[in-house]
Amino acid sequence: MKHNFGAGPGILPHEVLKQAAAAVIDFNGIGLSILEISHRSPDFEAVLDEAVKLVKELLNVPEGYSVLFLQGGASTQFAMIPYNLLAGDAKAAYVESGVWANKALKEAKYFGGVDVIATSKESNFTYIPKDYEVPADAAYLHLTSNNTIYGTQLHQFPASPIPVVCDMSSDIFSREINVADFGLIYAGAQKNMGPAGTTLVIIKDELLGKIDRKIPAMLDYKVQIDNGSMYNTPPVFAIYVSMLTLNWVKSKGGVAAIQKENEAKAKVLYEEIERNPFFKPVCATEDRSNMNVCFVMENAEHEKPFLKLCDERGIIGIKGHRSVGGFRASIYNALSINSVYALIDVMQEFAEKNK
Ligand code: PLP
Repeated sequence: MKHNFGAGPGILPHEVLKQAAAAVIDFNGIGLSILEISHRSPDFEAVLDEAVKLVKELLNVPEGYSVLFLQGGASTQFAMIPYNLLAGDAKAAYVESGVWANKALKEAKYFGGVDVIATSKESNFTYIPKDYEVPADAAYLHLTSNNTIYGTQLHQFPASPIPVVCDMSSDIFSREINVADFGLIYAGAQKNMGPAGTTLVIIKDELLGKIDRKIPAMLDYKVQIDNGSMYNTPPVFAIYVSMLTLNWVKSKGGVAAIQKENEAKAKVLYEEIERNPFFKPVCATEDRSNMNVCFVMENAEHEKPFLKLCDERGIIGIKGHRSVGGFRASIYNALSINSVYALIDVMQEFAEKNK
């Protein structure tokens, strides 16, 4: 058995994979593959409607917000957001809590002023900067809720007098959020929501229509909203698998129930990292992520043999990102606590063998 701790694309529920595999051959018993049905067919329209409905239900999305399934990954949102929301002399405020935030703010500079109000770059992003004031005259405040590479997570969102735009690529649907606190939420699907190929955007409608700039159709939120995410051929399969995964979240008791499980998984793993003298955590304790658990070994020479043992025991994808080193265990929604215990067993086995 394999335990998939990969950071992205991340693990998907096994039952979702089985349903998706069946639909590749015969979707809903109609004798056609999900890959060959028309995106304008009632069958696919029902899938997209259901996916949007599930997002609204699972996150309690209030009235006045639109839910979109777009393409181009979260990286396209880095540009699409300022394209639609930032113009003229206006500036946008960015908190630089990792490389993804850095990429987002670099893209924003093509469209207007950027004020980096806080950064933790000097510590290679081992914590989330929180010591800042949000400028009341900025167009929006951009945050990253979970820094996938460094294993830090924003556990409490700051109060903001301006719309908050948040990259939730690696923790959407992993914990409860209050959508009304945000102007725009975006997330590439490929961690907790589905396969790569679609990007969720939840946007407060009243933010739109405030700038004069001409925007190419595919990058214009208004066009995407008016066309129900179907201005062009949407990523049918990625949306279908996302819909199945959201249904799975619902069947587990929704986001609140999933959050409890995620907290329990993270707790036992961090406890082992602290208890086991061979390992140590890398991030500020209060910012530790419940999605990506980063750690290193006391003795760097142990890292290769530990990785080898993990491989032999079916622990997959825990090598740390190249910019951080060490290890990163991504414990997304679909990863069971038994897989976390399997990793802990290997950590203990390694310590026992090398003491
Ligand atoms: N933002 C975060 C927090 C991420 O973890 C990633 C990818 O891992 C991205 C953005 C980039 O996403 P995409 O590959 O969908 O463009």
